[in-house]
Amino acid sequence: MSRIFNFNAGPATLPTAVMNEAAAGFADYNGLGYGILEASHRSPEFQEVIDTAEQNIRTILSVPDDYAVLFLQGGASMQFAMIPMNFLPAAGAADFVDTGVWSKKAIKEAKLFGAVSIAASSGESNYDRIPAVSEWTRNDDAAYLHITSNNTIYGTQFQHTPDVAGGVPLMADMSSDIMSRAIDVSTYGLIYAGAQKNLGPSGVTLVIIRKDLAERSPESVPSMLKYATHISSNSLFNTPPTFAIYMLMLTSRWVLNEGGLPAIEARNRKKARRLYDIIDADDYYSGHASPGSRSIMNVCFRLPTPELEQSFITTANARGMIGLKGHRSIGGCRASIYNAMPEAGVECLADFMVDFRRKNG
Ligand SMILES: *Cc1c(COP(=O)(O)O)cnc(C)c1O
Repeated sequence: MSRIFNFNAGPATLPTAVMNEAAAGFADYNGLGYGILEASHRSPEFQEVIDTAEQNIRTILSVPDDYAVLFLQGGASMQFAMIPMNFLPAAGAADFVDTGVWSKKAIKEAKLFGAVSIAASSGESNYDRIPAVSEWTRNDDAAYLHITSNNTIYGTQFQHTPDVAGGVPLMADMSSDIMSRAIDVSTYGLIYAGAQKNLGPSGVTLVIIRKDLAERSPESVPSMLKYATHISSNSLFNTPPTFAIYMLMLTSRWVLNEGGLPAIEARNRKKARRLYDIIDADDYYSGHASPGSRSIMNVCFRLPTPELEQSFITTANARGMIGLKGHRSIGGCRASIYNAMPEAGVECLADFMVDFRRKNG
């Protein structure tokens, strides 16, 4: 079978080794005579899968012991509501840094529970940058501060974790850059990520939460939407998405086998640099993100005309590269180059970009 290079933003490409391993054990897991999809979530087989997935995440991200690692459902979008439901009192206010569509969706949900204050926004320049921390207006008594660490649609990314002095918990949507670079988990109150960009397939959401925060939820929060419920039941309060967790276990094991985050991060930076160097070479391609805010996961760029962009996407398709169309809110092209995108895929795209520019410049 010949695999094409899939630059889709999510669900996204998965490591070929992971796909092959899942396929090999699909109907007969470890010689048991049945597949892991068919295993009870209370079985020892599945318990080992979920324990290994958690342990892999803890190892890769150096998660401190006072943090819980949870596998939930509802996607990152559920977290937009679950965080304020648990941590934003009706009389309280939360600070948000507005860096685009996903931030705005999180803000909309938070407003259902309490007040929201926008600490900073790059909306006036169509979200082409992460506002510098020196420009932020924060409240020292905010219930929490929420950021979107990587903006999948615009190709912008926080280059550093913002320094949140004063004990305001930092909540971060890391859906599109989790496990792509080193982070210091202890500087966050809660990290969440839908799995379908860097962790595996859709259907499971990773949440890493400082355990003492979970004690703060109001009594009125339904059990399923309370973090404490999932902490005390080790993500087995109800039937979890067993196959998605299994795939996440395989994907995280692949990251470890590849050399863990240091190796993955170095490779990601190299891949991104390859594409940005071509974009910067002249003004044929123009990047959406301002250089100081560039994402190493989503590279967004334009060509001189919409017609050339369409031709670029169609021709790339014919050469075995799919998913290069930009999000409708900014247009142009987008190459999502998550952990599982091999260097060969980026090389193939880079060669094509140079070739296309030469022929259509
Ligand atoms: C994809 C994405 C989401 C949406 O995730 P769902 O799992 O579909 O709810 C939210 N935030 C960011 C940054 C994303 O990239």
